[in-house]
Amino acid sequence: MQIDTEKCTGCGFCVRDCPVEAVRLVKKKAVINEQRCTGCGVCLRVCEALAVTAEEMPPEGTLQCDACPIKCRIHSGYMGACHRYRNEDGQLVRITALHCFEDVAAIVGPDPAEAIRKPVVTAIGAGTTYPDCKPAPHILKENRQGVDVVTVVTEVPLSYSSVIVKVDTDIPLGKEGDRILAGKREVGMVETEQYGSKMLHIGGVNRMTGKNGFAVARTVTDIANRRPVKLKIENGGRLLLQVGHPPVIDGKQAVKMRVGCGSATMGLFAPILVEAADEVIILDSHITGQMSRHVAGQFAGARPTGVQLKFKESTPGRYFGDHGDGWGGTSISQPADVIRAVDMTVARAAMTILITETTGQNGAMFEVRQDGKLAQRALTKKARAALNAISNSCEPSRVSAIYTAGAGGSARAGVTRYPIKLTRAVHAGKAYLTVGGAPGFVLPGGGITFMVDVERVKDGSFYWTPTPATICPLEYTMEVKDYEKMGGHVEAMKPFDAKKPVAK
Ligand code: SF4
Ligand code: SF4
Repeated sequence: MQIDTEKCTGCGFCVRDCPVEAVRLVKKKAVINEQRCTGCGVCLRVCEALAVTAEEMPPEGTLQCDACPIKCRIHSGYMGACHRYRNEDGQLVRITALHCFEDVAAIVGPDPAEAIRKPVVTAIGAGTTYPDCKPAPHILKENRQGVDVVTVVTEVPLSYSSVIVKVDTDIPLGKEGDRILAGKREVGMVETEQYGSKMLHIGGVNRMTGKNGFAVARTVTDIANRRPVKLKIENGGRLLLQVGHPPVIDGKQAVKMRVGCGSATMGLFAPILVEAADEVIILDSHITGQMSRHVAGQFAGARPTGVQLKFKESTPGRYFGDHGDGWGGTSISQPADVIRAVDMTVARAAMTILITETTGQNGAMFEVRQDGKLAQRALTKKARAALNAISNSCEPSRVSAIYTAGAGGSARAGVTRYPIKLTRAVHAGKAYLTVGGAPGFVLPGGGITFMVDVERVKDGSFYWTPTPATICPLEYTMEVKDYEKMGGHVEAMKPFDAKKPVAK
């Protein structure tokens, strides 16, 4: 990397962000330590004064790492930008040794004993006791393979509760932080994106106890019970969502989940794409891929084409996309518009360019004319085959949801006289938490905050009450000896009778 000291303003962004501390300020000018520098390009991206430029050729004496698209050029004795690889006397070495499970077993911690992994009964239909300090409605024990096991069940009202909804689609729904409305009432917000999915958060205690609390509780419960709900994202789409079904966005049913980002699609299909056209561009709002510059395309034999894209290049052949209603969730609705220019000193006349998106649903093909202009042409058989290969690898678009709540409050009093002992037992794997029989994932740290996949809970098992709170069927299963030790309501404990499971 080179820094033009005339342009450098000494802002220090490159110093702060350089992952290997290769930049420092000397008399308010950035200076690069060439030995440490890996050419990762972070300083290039953060420098607002455009003072940094990259060398085309790897500096002498460096090794080029090919473990990720950054392609660090590492000097002997130094490490790459991710701090994983080091050039040790001309050999690239992974700094940390490969770990066996035994090496990490103590950190991973034990699984709960087999005897307590299933509840004696579920809390579905259990009812609730109020006030909380009364014993839970059912405290039932049985002997399993010589171990006395007890399950304490309650349909517990939880105002600290929400659903995290995963909508598998690349169609834009709204921006992070946008409010989600049920009718005119705010019930949640757009949270983030996952690979091929949009994540929505509906509910949460402050919305639940706010002015729209009833609508919030009802919406969380409907989603958890896998009923259809109509939502509107402020400044975004109108949604009809039902867990287990494809989402309907602005009246149109989404069909395919993308196979990956544009770069991942290139990584997956480069050997097929290289047969389909001289250049392939995969439009994607996250990372748009360009075959001739992408490491996977080059590995598969793609040659330089001189095609230059409008988007900002992140690493070779990987471009940050934008968001819109066009192909691949970008703003590009006329595919050729993604091409800024074709450098005819590199391009070949009659060279073909295939443009598609990460679901392979749309495809367009162009030929480069002598004057550098593009002429659209019909898709070739090989281009169709490439689009089909992408499309057939996509999973169907669907909605799923995780119910998440905090049960570390007064509901513990129905289980034990010493609530902290229940919390500790849950975190120690001595008391196992299930929701309608489905395993709950307990979040680390304090309290009993858990998550459960609603599709593993019998539909219709969640309710809401105008407290307002959602009501969740919750079970704690543990060995009777541990229940006694935590000060459990052993006087209310009864043997489980499969013929009369709810007898009091
Ligand atoms: S290219 Fe990367 S490693 Fe080199 S100075 Fe810039 S930020 Fe640091
Ligand atoms: S894997 Fe690490 S060392 Fe290798 S190119 Fe990527 S960032 Fe650099």
